[in-house]
Amino acid sequence: MQINLLNYAECEMLRGLIADAEHIVVCGHRSPDGDAMGSSLGWSEYLKGLGKNVEVVMPDLFPDFLQWLPNADGILRYDKKPDEVAKTFDHADLICCMDFGQSGRVDSMSALIDNAKAPIVLIDHHPDPTIKTRMKVSRPELSSTSEVVFRLIWQLGGFECMTRQAAVDIYCGMMTDTGGFTFNSNRPEIFFIISQLLTKGINKDRIYRNVYHNYSEQRVRLMGFVLYKRLHVNMQKRVCYYILTRQDLKRFNFKKGDAEGLVNIPLQIKGMRLSISLREDTERDHLIWVSLRSVDNLSCTKIAEKYFNGGGHFNASGGRLECTPQEAEIIVQRAIEEM
Ligand code: 5GP
Ligand code: MN
Repeated sequence: MQINLLNYAECEMLRGLIADAEHIVVCGHRSPDGDAMGSSLGWSEYLKGLGKNVEVVMPDLFPDFLQWLPNADGILRYDKKPDEVAKTFDHADLICCMDFGQSGRVDSMSALIDNAKAPIVLIDHHPDPTIKTRMKVSRPELSSTSEVVFRLIWQLGGFECMTRQAAVDIYCGMMTDTGGFTFNSNRPEIFFIISQLLTKGINKDRIYRNVYHNYSEQRVRLMGFVLYKRLHVNMQKRVCYYILTRQDLKRFNFKKGDAEGLVNIPLQIKGMRLSISLREDTERDHLIWVSLRSVDNLSCTKIAEKYFNGGGHFNASGGRLECTPQEAEIIVQRAIEEM
């Protein structure tokens, strides 16, 4: 089984970039998900094991259900400490961008990446990265950035020394980006990697519960409300969408991360091909967050790009609209009509 990702020259280049760096920034994307968190924390564990001074940076808050991840409490947040983060970037000898390919995905932190003095290594699995880098490890065909991280550590000879914590981080990222290994997860290498991670003593059943059985009562009720009151189903086109207004979200005491995974549920309807979620921002007017999920050969990316100023993976994309929920509904209806 081929786990290694890099050719000889690439591998030596990555090795050299790491060897030459003392201070390393590892950075994930806005509203970090399990994969952004898992890949960043797992990769940083590896770098720390090499004696590097590592700072893990995120643009903003990560959801409650990822708080338990080893070393999550050490993450530096840009929305809380912008000056400290800027200083960290300034002192860095190497910057690792994890799980995103466009600097826009880190919102107001993008200038730090666009103007970085230190070389950037991109480690990601999103199509068409645009960040200016010294080195790109971009593998859209892989399940997750965490899988990319495992393969890099493996190739660099770091598996022997991999800590249980790093194994937990990597497993969590692979699990969440594949919906608990229910999509994007048919390649045998994934299960080889899992078997290797298990030798590090991870409890994969507990990791699953930590992530998916960790909702607040309000979050579960919100889920019921969406399905009962907000879901529009078009069986002819096999598409559905829902819109959550700020008022809806307030009613269920919405916290960041509470919407995570909701968009997948309508795909449980027999024959459903596409699910679209529109969610009004809880603070900013005229901002609607969009999530799309599809199955098989229907591309979300194209729809996200064409109608929702976004992009992403083939079967999982996102974007945003600058308008009211009413206007957003007109856009989503047009998108469905034109499908
Ligand atoms: P989510 O629905 O979980 O917010 O996003 C699903 C996927 O869509 C993410 O993993 C990411 O790849 C992509 N995505 C989300 N928002 C954006 C965006 O604004 N631009 C682009 N290019 N991709 C996005
Ligand atoms: Mn990912």
